[in-house]
Amino acid sequence: MTSIFDDPSDFAQEALDGFVAANRQYVARVDGGVVRSTEMTRGQVALVVGGGSGHYPAFAGLVGAGLAAASACGNIFASPSAGQVYRVAKSAQMGGGVLLSYGNYGGDVLHFGQAQQRLNAEGIETRTVLVTDDIASAPVDQQEKRRGIAGDLTVFKVAGAAAEAGLTLDEVERLAIKTNSRTRSLGVAFDGCTLPGAVEPLFTVPSGQMSLGLGIHGEPGISEHEMPTASELAELLVSRLLADRPQDAGTRVVAILNGLGTVKYEELFLLFGKIEKLLIAAGLEIVEPECGELVTSLDMAGLSLTLLWLDDELAALWSAPADTPAYRKGNLTRRAHRDTRQLAEAVADTEQGTPAAVQLGRLAVAALESARSVVVEHEDFFGKLDAIAGDGDHGIGMRRGADAAAEAAGAADGTGVRNILTRAGEAWSEKAGGTSGALWGAALTATGNALGNKDSYDTADAAAAVTAFATAVTELGNAKLGDKTMVDALLPFAEAFAGEVGRGASADRALTVAAEVARTAADRTADLSPKIGRARPLAEKSLGHPDPGAVSLALIAQGLGQTFALLFTNEGAQA
Ligand code: ADP
Ligand code: MG
Repeated sequence: MTSIFDDPSDFAQEALDGFVAANRQYVARVDGGVVRSTEMTRGQVALVVGGGSGHYPAFAGLVGAGLAAASACGNIFASPSAGQVYRVAKSAQMGGGVLLSYGNYGGDVLHFGQAQQRLNAEGIETRTVLVTDDIASAPVDQQEKRRGIAGDLTVFKVAGAAAEAGLTLDEVERLAIKTNSRTRSLGVAFDGCTLPGAVEPLFTVPSGQMSLGLGIHGEPGISEHEMPTASELAELLVSRLLADRPQDAGTRVVAILNGLGTVKYEELFLLFGKIEKLLIAAGLEIVEPECGELVTSLDMAGLSLTLLWLDDELAALWSAPADTPAYRKGNLTRRAHRDTRQLAEAVADTEQGTPAAVQLGRLAVAALESARSVVVEHEDFFGKLDAIAGDGDHGIGMRRGADAAAEAAGAADGTGVRNILTRAGEAWSEKAGGTSGALWGAALTATGNALGNKDSYDTADAAAAVTAFATAVTELGNAKLGDKTMVDALLPFAEAFAGEVGRGASADRALTVAAEVARTAADRTADLSPKIGRARPLAEKSLGHPDPGAVSLALIAQGLGQTFALLFTNEGAQA
């Protein structure tokens, strides 16, 4: 439970503001996150980390000398938007390039990926190293599919030390990749966590039971066990991690026992004592271990064990000094404070719309209002569907996105359709977080750009807009038909729409027909097993239930069909 807040929807932002207030000697607030408040060396690589909030000290607590240069901070358990990551990285970079590093989650990959493209396009050389340490989330031969948990710390620490030492972007990237490939974690939960303001936990573990292999966003574990004794738990964690050890692992390991939120330090220490004995018995030397809260999950009762298999260069970087709000080691010369007053950045202009674009813009505002009311009506349903095999946030994420998009569109009413839809798209991805938020945001923006600012529009433009929407989703998300995502409703929808228009149907008629097709296709995703996204590690749980993103897309399309049919009969307008 979380007790201290005014409005729970402001929780993450206000907590971050307060964190900065308590740590001004380390960090300054920028739009979208925090950046070091102390000088860095010109030309040094900027390590920019980040992800959803609710994981303190990840990620903002790890910003400081010898570790991260900045952190992009999203809403609770939701990725920061591409715009936020971009602005944070831009205010942190020192001319030596940027390394983005974060846990492997779909939403983060999309948003950080878009930010990376934008930074590179501006000549700020930017690379990415994903953290994939969680052995429960995919087999060892698919390490790139594993999600990131407490292994964030080992990768950030080594990359941060390498950047502090003045190594090049190539070298910092190489070392981060190597650290990730030699890091393994496994977690357990004894009880769930509750989002601020929520009455129900995201998940529960039956009393007397333990869930093995949980994610850090309430993704359910892979198996349930009777609550073990401390010795049995130590044995379970150590044996599974040793069985997954990398090739040429060597005999030196960093061990990190990480509390997820509500496990007492004394309990962690008790367990660590047993873990140490087992590792020594396995012939290993333990190097500068950690035992405490390093990557948490709100108030989750649970813990994880991480092993980083060292070699000489990694050992030196692991031991190097660091000085951040939540992680301090060794001695660093104090740095002067930088001038943080000018970190904010100016934003965009508005274009003058043609009469036709303004008229179509009104339709776009109505469409986004319609999408919002569908999402409001089904918010709980979307959340429950996503809780079956995902993390349960599809309702709240869609709600935040649709609200923000409708507000942004409404505020731009009277301007052209391109301006309205691109603003709505940015607002959606900025506020929604999550994979679906990035995809919806990018899709709306692409739709606006496809419609452009023309002197007239016809049904072929409507078909091109639908195609642009679909292409944005498939290009950014890389999902294929049958992967069990929103794409399984979207592609049939786009195809049916183009088909109807090709046969001479009006845009609203084509929309109604295509929405029915999308609905049927969404329902059929129940038979599929997820190949991508957060639900993939829990494929069996998902069978028999439709994909949340496909269902929400189809319902929104149906709502749009009804709205447009009404608008067109009332006004006799043509699109
Ligand atoms: P998150 O998965 O980050 O928690 P949401 O719960 O809001 O985000 O959205 C989940 C939905 O996103 C899934 O049901 C699926 O339809 C969609 N999705 C996930 N990954 C992809 C992808 N790569 N391409 C298209 N859609 C995806
Ligand atoms: Mg989700």
